Amino acid sequence: MDSATSKQAKAQIAQRLRKNISSYLGETIDIDAVLSDCLAAAKANGWLIEEIPVPQKPSLFALTRSPSANTNHGSIYISTGIHGDEPAGPLAVRELLQENQWPENANLFLIPCLNPTGLRLNRRENDQGVDLNREYLNTKAPETLAHIHWMSRQPFFDVCLCLHEDWESDGFYVYELNPDNRPSLADHVVAQVAEVCPIDLSEIIEGRPAQKGIIRPSVDPRSRPQWPEAFYLLSNKTRLSYTLEAPSDFPLPTRVTALVAAVRAALTAFPATARKP
Ligand SMILES: [Zn+2]
Repeated sequence: MDSATSKQAKAQIAQRLRKNISSYLGETIDIDAVLSDCLAAAKANGWLIEEIPVPQKPSLFALTRSPSANTNHGSIYISTGIHGDEPAGPLAVRELLQENQWPENANLFLIPCLNPTGLRLNRRENDQGVDLNREYLNTKAPETLAHIHWMSRQPFFDVCLCLHEDWESDGFYVYELNPDNRPSLADHVVAQVAEVCPIDLSEIIEGRPAQKGIIRPSVDPRSRPQWPEAFYLLSNKTRLSYTLEAPSDFPLPTRVTALVAAVRAALTAFPATARKP
């Protein structure tokens, strides 16, 4: 079997389950156990662990790996777990932390779970019914206030990766926010994920034109009242952001593998293509 055929065969292993009909009805996780695994791996591998207190809620945790004071090596931000019915993100981050293969000298900033109460309840919103990923302009939720306060103290990020899932999609896809037309990582990310998970090749995804699993919305954040995390990042912390969407109507291991592959692909493509000139 040649390698292209073998890649296709692997990608065809996973089939859409068609069981998530009006919401995500799939596997759930013990987020507290997953988080504690993340913290243990981070500690074992020399990451700085910062507890971010959140009033009336479980703390958030920010993990930082800063091998170099030289920011020319790049600063990469990764976050997940903002939607409580998207378990593959925290699992993918756990796998990446345990594997501990990161680009040499890159500074990494990682938040393994932005919505602990939502994950505990397996629901998109937090325990008060607030979709935290719509809170980044007019912010009231304590989790988001705490997250923004932490971000305001961090340096500029060269690239941001936000890990999500979508129970409606036919495969993996990615949103790219790249207003300065910097070298894109999206094609490489999709090509690498295609080896382990189907790609959503629809021409319209989430109501937006898409091409080969890539959505490049031409939205001006100022024109939208309900900001997702990526809009805050684009407006304040970065000029290159990827929202990585695994298809949650597929088996959980496939989605975790897809997100791990997507992050790995972005990290390997980043030093060559996305660094500031
Ligand atoms: Zn999401």
